[in-house]
Amino acid sequence: MPKIGRNDPCPCGSGKKYKHCHQPIDEAAQAAKRRLRNAFDTLLPQLIGAAQGRTEAIPTALERFWNGKYTAEQLSELDDLEDRGADRFLTWFAFDYPQEDGRTLVEQLAADPGDEVTLNEEEATLIKEWASVRLRPYVVESVEKGLRITLRDLLDSSLRTVEDHAASKRVKVGEVLVTHILPAGDVNFIGGAAAHLTDDTSEKLREFSELHLEAFRRDHPDADWTTLLRARSEVLNHFVMALPVEEADPTVLENIIAQTRASLQLTGESLGLIKSSEEEPKKDEESAS
Ligand SMILES: [Zn+2]
Repeated sequence: MPKIGRNDPCPCGSGKKYKHCHQPIDEAAQAAKRRLRNAFDTLLPQLIGAAQGRTEAIPTALERFWNGKYTAEQLSELDDLEDRGADRFLTWFAFDYPQEDGRTLVEQLAADPGDEVTLNEEEATLIKEWASVRLRPYVVESVEKGLRITLRDLLDSSLRTVEDHAASKRVKVGEVLVTHILPAGDVNFIGGAAAHLTDDTSEKLREFSELHLEAFRRDHPDADWTTLLRARSEVLNHFVMALPVEEADPTVLENIIAQTRASLQLTGESLGLIKSSEEEPKKDEESAS
């Protein structure tokens, strides 16, 4: 936006000088946006700190998120063992893991901050919006380098724009991010670390998620994506863990799907969730273990 001088005519066309018309309104809006941005920067570390304080719940949660591969003793090395692994786990633990009363830590703190966090007005507003956020898979739809990216939710296809200057330089269209998207006013940010996957994974991750929803519906017939992720968003991380680290490998992706089918005891007969337009040649049922 070109800078408007205080004494220039206001761009709204009122004929008044900018300073007597929209300048105070614009400045107030910018200040509110800055306060929310600051609240994002200060609230997230407080939540991670509170998560680290819940030491008695961490061991079970950590095993669940990492599918039994790591134990709580390894939490301090997880950032080396997996790309930003400790960060990804603690964010999931705060936003997704049900504590003893069935609510997540963020849901508990949104209802009552107690003495675990001290929230200013903006932080108290944000945490209420964040209580419903869960780990989700997104495909990069468009990139404005150095500014922002647009992400398409891989499950419900909704779009959201994310202000992340660093991510906008690293990601390409078609790639996948498994992460928490946190609103702050009318913009969104990436909460903590994102698992960043190659563009060949999006279809398989969708298929993988559909298998989990299908299996989940055996016990919860009315379940939708939100219900599934409230119950077991950690499976998205299990998919990430199964991927090759160095380079894309289509065999690995096929194996993940075959093994998921087998472990969930799904026959390959879908409940109509899998798009039939996308030709999906029926693989034989043998698992590739
Ligand atoms: Zn004006």
